[in-house]
Amino acid sequence: MMTNQEGYFGIFGGSFVPPELKAVLDNLANKFEKYKNDPDFNQEFKETLKEYVGRENPLTYASRLTKEFNGPKIYLKREDLNHTGAHKINNVVGQILLAKRMGAHRIIAETSAGQHGVATATACAMFGMDCTIYMGKLDTERQALNVFRMELLGAKVIPVEKGQGRLKDAVDVALADLVENYESTFYLLGSAVGPHPFPSMVKHFQSIISEESKKQILEQEGNLPAAVLAVVGGGSNAIGSFAHYIDEPSVRLIGAEPEEAATMAKGAPAEIHGFKTLVLQDENGEPAPTYSIAAGLDYPGIGPEHSYLKETGRAEYYTVSKEEVLEAFKLLSSKEGIIPALESAHAIALAKKLAPQFNKEESIIITISGRGDKDVVHVHDLLKNG
Ligand SMILES: *Cc1c(COP(=O)(O)O)cnc(C)c1O
Repeated sequence: MMTNQEGYFGIFGGSFVPPELKAVLDNLANKFEKYKNDPDFNQEFKETLKEYVGRENPLTYASRLTKEFNGPKIYLKREDLNHTGAHKINNVVGQILLAKRMGAHRIIAETSAGQHGVATATACAMFGMDCTIYMGKLDTERQALNVFRMELLGAKVIPVEKGQGRLKDAVDVALADLVENYESTFYLLGSAVGPHPFPSMVKHFQSIISEESKKQILEQEGNLPAAVLAVVGGGSNAIGSFAHYIDEPSVRLIGAEPEEAATMAKGAPAEIHGFKTLVLQDENGEPAPTYSIAAGLDYPGIGPEHSYLKETGRAEYYTVSKEEVLEAFKLLSSKEGIIPALESAHAIALAKKLAPQFNKEESIIITISGRGDKDVVHVHDLLKNG
């Protein structure tokens, strides 16, 4: 990839942070470079994914969905079957192993919907790491059950009242903690966003998705898929699903995003949270408020490599509506017996729209980023109240 020392993807990425933080992140970048090719490190990563997360997960041929779409053969990459029910744990395990190698005994993270916080608290419990989760005060009220989950798992959850009590404020407080306590503390970022080296690091750990799916599709079909589809929030499950196909020009890389947080469709280059990417902006150039029925997609920016893949035309991104997502949620449940996360239902909805572009001999892979148990009550309310 076109990433240089400073972590640029074309004009996107980089690191726009104060000097104290820059020093901490430079050290992190060096350690990541050192360990990502270290055989012992990689063996421990793979072993933990196998024994604790339950990898490799299947690439499931969805015969009834294939019939329904009347187009390409549909394969589902089953991140929903991981321990904790989504892809986020892959990255959390990788970063905690790196933290241990760096001598940190304390993990901090921020979370808004709580999914990244729960994955982090889970793996911290398993590795015996001290865990502090920062969360906007408003978010702790809306996600009381996830706060309880994190506390059960032994984490300390700190409600952030400063500013508007939202994700942005929790990020600021977490970064201040990191700068103050960098010798003992590792800041665990949950998506392929943020200043260098986070986007490259998160991609590296999530690339396990396409490392497995490529091997599996070659075993099952004997050739590469015509396309790989995934939903993009910050972009971590999508970049991990794309990674091993980026240099295979015959494979279309396709991202789905919600109409209400259409960063790729409507965003413009800007700086957000210490890096440059496409950002949804209001008329004053400030990050625009977003709303998505899937909490994990509520973010006005996107990982810098996705902005680059879009601008260079290597990947394509399309929006789907709330109605299409709810339809897809019901469809996968009733046709395949798999209740997907609302986030993942975006990818199914997009596959349905694009299916006529493929022929029946071709196959496509859709990443099911997570399971939908967490969303069933919400969907029930949405369908009841319209
Ligand atoms: C968090 C989450 C997402 C969105 O995050 P990405 O970094 O874009 O992958 C998608 N699906 C599920 C199930 C999630 O928990």
